Amino acid sequence: MTFHAKFSGYADPALHAVGLYIGGKWQSGSGITVLDPSTGNLLAEVADASIEDAQRAVDAADAAAAGWRATPARQRSEILRRWYQLMTQHAEELATLIALENGKALADARGEVAYAAEFFRWYAEEATRIPGEFRHTPSGSHNILVDHEPIGIAVLITPWNFPAAMATRKIGPALAAGCTVILKPASETPLTAYAMARLGEEAGVPPGVVNVLTTSNPGGITNAMLADPRVRKLSFTGSTGVGRVLLAEAAKSVVSCSMELGGNAPFIVFDDADLEVALDGAMIAKMRNAGEACTAANRFYVQAGIHDAFVAGLTARMKSLKLGPGYDPETQCGPMITQNAVRKIDRLVSEALAAGARATTGGKPLTENGYFYPPTVLENVPVNASIAREEIFGPVAPVYKFESDDEAIRLANNTEYGLAAYIYSRDLKRAMKVGKRIETGMLGINRGLMSDPAAPFGGVKQSGLGREGGVTGILEFMEPKYFAVDY
Ligand code: NAD
Repeated sequence: MTFHAKFSGYADPALHAVGLYIGGKWQSGSGITVLDPSTGNLLAEVADASIEDAQRAVDAADAAAAGWRATPARQRSEILRRWYQLMTQHAEELATLIALENGKALADARGEVAYAAEFFRWYAEEATRIPGEFRHTPSGSHNILVDHEPIGIAVLITPWNFPAAMATRKIGPALAAGCTVILKPASETPLTAYAMARLGEEAGVPPGVVNVLTTSNPGGITNAMLADPRVRKLSFTGSTGVGRVLLAEAAKSVVSCSMELGGNAPFIVFDDADLEVALDGAMIAKMRNAGEACTAANRFYVQAGIHDAFVAGLTARMKSLKLGPGYDPETQCGPMITQNAVRKIDRLVSEALAAGARATTGGKPLTENGYFYPPTVLENVPVNASIAREEIFGPVAPVYKFESDDEAIRLANNTEYGLAAYIYSRDLKRAMKVGKRIETGMLGINRGLMSDPAAPFGGVKQSGLGREGGVTGILEFMEPKYFAVDY
């Protein structure tokens, strides 16, 4: 891996990795360029894995599998705990690396590192509490014993928007369960993944237990790994479109899949909400990572009585945000990940404006260097505009006015997605009643941030299959085995 001046100046050299990480060995290479999204300048170049490299990674994961599975849970737990401690010790360097390659503001990057490390701490604890079952058969003549075994080699594919947390949310439970893994991070943000692998080595993760590959051919490499009968799990976080393709591919060899896919979160504000609380929550739910989050509020449904005050308050807050490179400590809103991301946001906003929406702030991409889109609020947006159907993945808040609770529920559910939703009301009974009718995997009531390693994260409908985090997250990497015993 080569490092360019900007990168070397910001990141701790101890975290500079050298390329593919297979079987505990670093294999240098080049072919994938990593850009600074705030300038478009080259940041680093990393290795581009071939299909043969992927096969070697499966060999390495297989060679390590029996030993890791047989390692006492307490020992696996302590390795994860050390990895958590090392991430915490190196939090500032990791945050800088994330801010550099992803573009998010340092405050968000620091929050991500703390969140990411917590998955290792949580699963260090869960590793020693793997549940089993002992039951009586209904006939009373026998007993039912259920054990949980590691599912086998797991392929983990992660997106660029949370380069640390999406990886630890998979590696933590997989290692705790006794599985060995191959991580394929997004090509836009590989440096964080390699830096974390470096820390994993230092924490004592044995060679081959965690392998990391970057590639410009994700489809070819993933298909080759899924076709290998030793691979028994695919855990994917990314867009619904790629998720559908991977589900079809995994079907060929009936590989177990966990899918964390796209979202289109409604943010419902009732007339009886505390306006300041709702605005604080809206800023978190919309602007964490400059809107590049699967849980980001994508549609603001605001009841008629509070609508104008909410739009005015949100506009003032969005206008006041300081744009800049993520690694500048003053920055509150960083660049988008790529120029294509800016083009997509521009298309959605332009279509909404053409359909009758009005921008109270922002509304056009910036023309400076880098991939910036300004914080934008749109009002009077038609409920069937493309911006209400597609993930915006940027700092744009479209606001829609509604009258009744039933109308809010109907609008909120009018999407193929069902990952996250938010409700603001002072009346908890009303919020719970409405919440029960929203089709979502996660619901924030008077809270704009719901992610917690101790809670089950995931979606319904086309937002995904399975859950990460919480007490059930480890079971995604295990198979129940039923023992029918006569004794
Ligand atoms: P993406 O689907 O384009 O890419 C995700 C990962 O899949 C990357 O590593 C990419 O290289 C890889 N990939 C792409 N094509 C592939 C193929 N054919 N085979 C195998 N791998 C392939 O998504 P993205 O743009 O990186 O991330 C943004 C998306 O991720 C958004 O839709 C967002 O909502 C979603 N997301 C979901 C969650 C969640 O927990 N539900 C969390 C974060 C992001």
